[in-house]
Amino acid sequence: MDYDVVIVGGGPAGLSAAIRLKQLAADKGAELSVCVLEKGSEIGAHILSGAVMDPRALTELFPDWKEQGAPLDVPVTEDMFLFLSEAGAKAVPNWALPDNFKN
Ligand SMILES: Cc1cc2nc3c(=O)[nH]c(=O)nc-3n(C[C@H](O)[C@H](O)[C@H](O)COP(=O)(O)OP(=O)(O)OC[C@H]3O[C@@H](n4cnc5c(N)ncnc54)[C@H](O)[C@@H]3O)c2cc1C
Repeated sequence: MDYDVVIVGGGPAGLSAAIRLKQLAADKGAELSVCVLEKGSEIGAHILSGAVMDPRALTELFPDWKEQGAPLDVPVTEDMFLFLSEAGAKAVPNWALPDNFKN
C-alpha cells in the first residue's frame, strides 16, 4: 500500500508527528495518508505506563483535551526527591537539586 507519510514507531514522538501532520492537512483541506508502524502488539504496548506527564505537548496538539475526556485526573502539586533506605526516606532539599530534577 502507498502512503504519503510513513512514521516508524508509535511512541509519543511518532504519534504526535502523525496527529500534527493530519491536523495541518485538515487545516488546508488537503488529503494526506499517514501510516504509523508500531512493532509492539498495539500502540503504547512498549512505552506508556500511565505515570506522571507534563501535559504541555498534549495541550499544543489538543487544546480541549480536558473537555474531550482525556484520562489525566490528578494534577501534580508537589515535587520531592527522596533517598530510600531500609529505615526510611530522607528528602533532598529543593535548593540542592539541579534544575533538571525540578519538575
Ligand atoms: C520505565 C520508564 C518509565 C517512564 N516514565 C515516564 C513518566 O512517568 N513520565 C514521562 O513523561 N516519561 C516517562 N518515561 C519516558 C517516556 O516513556 C519517553 O520519554 C517517551 O516514551 C519517548 O517517546 P518516543 O516516541 O521518542 O520513543 P518511544 O516511546 O520509545 O517510542 C518508540 C516506538 O517505536 C517502536 N519501534 C522501535 N523500532 C521500531 C521498528 N523498527 N518498527 C516499528 N516500531 C518500532 C517502539 O516499539 C516504540 O513503541 C519513562 C520511560 C521508561 C523507560
